[in-house]
Amino acid sequence: MSEEILKPGQKIRFLRTLEEGPSAEAPGRYFAGKGAYGTIDKVGGCKEGFWVFWEGWRSASFGCAREDFYPVYETDEEKECCISQINLDAYCSTDETRPYITKPFLVGGYAVATNGHVMVMIPEDMHPDVVKDSDAPNETVLEIIALFSDAEFKLADVPDYPAKQKCLVCVGAGKVSFTDCKECHGDGAVNFFNDFNEYEHTCQSCKGCGHKKRLGHGASCIECCGTGLTYKHNDIKDGIDYMGGLVNPNYLEQALTNMVHPEVCYLEGRRMYLFSFGRAKAIVMGMNKYD
Ligand SMILES: [Zn+2]
Ligand SMILES: [Zn+2]
Repeated sequence: MSEEILKPGQKIRFLRTLEEGPSAEAPGRYFAGKGAYGTIDKVGGCKEGFWVFWEGWRSASFGCAREDFYPVYETDEEKECCISQINLDAYCSTDETRPYITKPFLVGGYAVATNGHVMVMIPEDMHPDVVKDSDAPNETVLEIIALFSDAEFKLADVPDYPAKQKCLVCVGAGKVSFTDCKECHGDGAVNFFNDFNEYEHTCQSCKGCGHKKRLGHGASCIECCGTGLTYKHNDIKDGIDYMGGLVNPNYLEQALTNMVHPEVCYLEGRRMYLFSFGRAKAIVMGMNKYD
């Protein structure tokens, strides 16, 4: 979501309960309940960041807009604008043993991208460059599209995302590059021998991992997608409660990027979330509560 999207007349919905001010020290703070709606009256920038005025509250928010609320899209036109910003490539698998899902494919009138956990479907007329692929999981996608016609949808709750921590791979830098360790040439171990024996020992230069990290350098970190932050291991492993199921917060957050405030149907038997947003669809695989 970018701040340009927010404009007067836009409806917003709060992601968390805000209980600061307004007070003499913090005249720019506000009260709002999680899930509450407001309509933006005015937007602008200031040295603290980004501010908005919205009806029903006395004051503006400073530098907190993107974290604290998201816009509610109601008209088809607004939703189309959001859908057009979805980057299908971001949903493709990087698993080279499954080449058929490493790029978007066309099926059932949709341009589809999936990594096996999250699937996003956008009307084909918005992606004229995507083509049919007979190796793609076409039958599965058609079955999933059929599920949508029988499902009963309701407005999705705002997810209670757990707090994030510094990414362990890039240590918060967002960018990281790896070079082979000079002592072990990437093996993680070094060998010695004498007339009696041959010895293998963990490389002390790289502590056995075979490479050296350079933080803040090179490509975007794959672990945190360049944000420098990730959910805690336990939150990912155990999942979070959402709309009657359990789900990996990464997958939920990924699916709802640019698909804010969708309608949802959780299919308990299939452990599958169906999301509907204008002409776009998304599926997120849930987790087994007894795993
Ligand atoms: Zn990272
Ligand atoms: Zn080494």
